[in-house]
Amino acid sequence: MAEAARKRGANEQRPVTALRGVGAALADRLRRLGVEQVQDLLFILPVDYDDRTECRRIGALIPGMRALVEGEVQLTEVVFRRRRQLLTRLSDGSGFLTLRFFHFSAAQQEGLTRGTRLRVFGEVRRGPQGLEIVHPEYQRVTERSETVQDTLTPLYPLTEGVTQGRLRMLIGQALRELDTAGVHDWVPRELVEDLHLPSLREALHYVHRPPKQAQLAQLSARRHPAQRRLAFEELLAHQANLRLIKRATRTDPAWALEDAEGLAARLLSSLPFQLTGAQARALAEVEADVRAERPMVRLVQGDVGCGKTVVAALAAARAAGSGLQAALMAPTELLAEQHARNFRAWLQPLGLPVALLSGAQPARARRSALEAVASGEVRMVVGTHALFQEGIEFAHLALVIVDEQHRFGVQQRLRLQEKGRACGRFPHQLIMTATPIPRTLAMTAYADLDVSVIDELPPGRTPVQTVVVPEQRRDEVVARVAQACRSGRQVYWVCPLIEESEELRAQAAEETAAVLAEALPELRVDLVHGRLASAKKEALMHAFQTGHIQVLVATTVIEVGVDVPNATLMVIENAERMGLAQLHQLRGRVGRGAAASSCVLLYRAPLSVLARRRLEVMRQTNDGFEIARRDLELRGPGELLGTRQTGLAQMRVADLIRDADLLARVQAAAEVLLERYPDNIAALSARWLAGGEQYGRVG
Ligand code: ADP
Ligand code: MG
Repeated sequence: MAEAARKRGANEQRPVTALRGVGAALADRLRRLGVEQVQDLLFILPVDYDDRTECRRIGALIPGMRALVEGEVQLTEVVFRRRRQLLTRLSDGSGFLTLRFFHFSAAQQEGLTRGTRLRVFGEVRRGPQGLEIVHPEYQRVTERSETVQDTLTPLYPLTEGVTQGRLRMLIGQALRELDTAGVHDWVPRELVEDLHLPSLREALHYVHRPPKQAQLAQLSARRHPAQRRLAFEELLAHQANLRLIKRATRTDPAWALEDAEGLAARLLSSLPFQLTGAQARALAEVEADVRAERPMVRLVQGDVGCGKTVVAALAAARAAGSGLQAALMAPTELLAEQHARNFRAWLQPLGLPVALLSGAQPARARRSALEAVASGEVRMVVGTHALFQEGIEFAHLALVIVDEQHRFGVQQRLRLQEKGRACGRFPHQLIMTATPIPRTLAMTAYADLDVSVIDELPPGRTPVQTVVVPEQRRDEVVARVAQACRSGRQVYWVCPLIEESEELRAQAAEETAAVLAEALPELRVDLVHGRLASAKKEALMHAFQTGHIQVLVATTVIEVGVDVPNATLMVIENAERMGLAQLHQLRGRVGRGAAASSCVLLYRAPLSVLARRRLEVMRQTNDGFEIARRDLELRGPGELLGTRQTGLAQMRVADLIRDADLLARVQAAAEVLLERYPDNIAALSARWLAGGEQYGRVG
């Protein structure tokens, strides 16, 4: 028995070079795809399938179809139509089909003489002489030719340096070994028994070689039980890995923030407003975490304008009041500057200086700020993510606040944790995000975090009225801008990312600003964009905040976080080109005070179906969660979570929306793995996760 298990283990870990036809060069290319062992090949899963089990009649072909046909060559000729090309006319008695080759060899041409029988496969399209296939796969049919295939043909994800044909061949070999060598099923049976899914081995056979009678539509939609079995395992691998990360980080030592100086309480009583119930709840959760000697890793989720910053400031005051340091990282310079302003307004009256680390700072100012941080003289530091990556020395960093984490993934969180480590202690992490995502998705994607939700806006806000207006009615919009300013309000006019380069974007915004300034000579119009020096941006934002600028033309640099409550009108140009999350973020810049605000979405016709739907969603609702839900329907989770930041968004078989019904089961199963089969988690992670995301491999 033990002997058999050992043999199986050894077999399972055979290197790919054990396969026929795999030399050092190919092994090298395969390694770049993450394939080192024979079993790794089995987990390169088809993205779709072709049906080559049956020859179609040429007369029954429809453009767009991928089809197998068999026929006899009528004529092959080289023609010159802009480019030299080879045309072969094929007939099966029911019609004609042209095969078109732009690249071909003399030998190929000679092999396609009249009377040759061919079996060809490819995508049928309408050509100048009727239906055609460009660069079909084809083979000559001879007496000895095999009959057509009896399983569907898998299409593997495109892989650099390894062709489909080669991959099919290798995976075919690995599949044949599957029965003898086996592949270990790391998902304990009891966890999947009642889901009535096939075994791992059956599932793998099925997805790589679906039988002829398989439902192609079901497979393409990835709803087949075999795919669901694999999806379950993939989701489980991610989930268990994240929980392992969570568990491990929570055993590190951290400072307990007791706030002996009572600064948090003093800040709270000095605020000109009362916290909302939701803010108070989130703050209580944060405080409970940071009082423990284990690092907090908490996400505070809440719609734009719900007041996350003040919660963070109260946590920072608690760290400072414990004689330790807090740092806030913002995604842009603009935001870092704004946060520094806010934190100064809140903390300096308590006797706490706030250091700003900005990329544009003169070297001397920067150096003295860095020194103050290293000596512990300054307890609150604000800067951009980039600055923190460069490495700052802290005297005793106890709390890291990350603003707008939708650009901030698992790996970055772990690295930050490691970086912030000092004297053997790890900082608490508070991550704020304005990307509200549905609960099941949040629990899955952020399983390594604790989550607080601020689901309430400060009182007295009136919802932003949104209108959708075609470009042709721009004049009316300009009149509206004039009107808003006349009544003492301020306006954002956003020119989004439609140009290739930051330089062109800046130019486009400059033009708009010039046109507006001319149309509205009595108003103070100015412009902010990404190419301005940081000190200039800061000065402009300050001028807008204090009302010296009435109309601020901007690129999407103002997308996140900017807070000027007197601005009550926002115009967004080319709104049809922007995603819902971004539109929602932008719109969140208005409606921040008590006055009624509005948002004008200017678009250029014609609108695509998707663009029309997006604008409609914006018109209908201000609720970030609702918008996220609709966004999810329209685009899928990849876009919503940001593809780069989480491996969850780019899984191989699973899909957080399609397989949402599995998520609760996956969470429960992950818990069981963690409790009872911890060793299986590493094996599952190695099988399913990209290297960098795996627990213990973050460098
Ligand atoms: P976000 O959550 O989008 O980061 P902010 O923290 O920028 O939102 O807060 C938006 C605005 O609401 C700020 O001007 C802030 O001072 C104000 N604010 C925050 N909490 C409250 C509250 N409880 N009552 C009234 N105003 C508040
Ligand atoms: Mg914010």
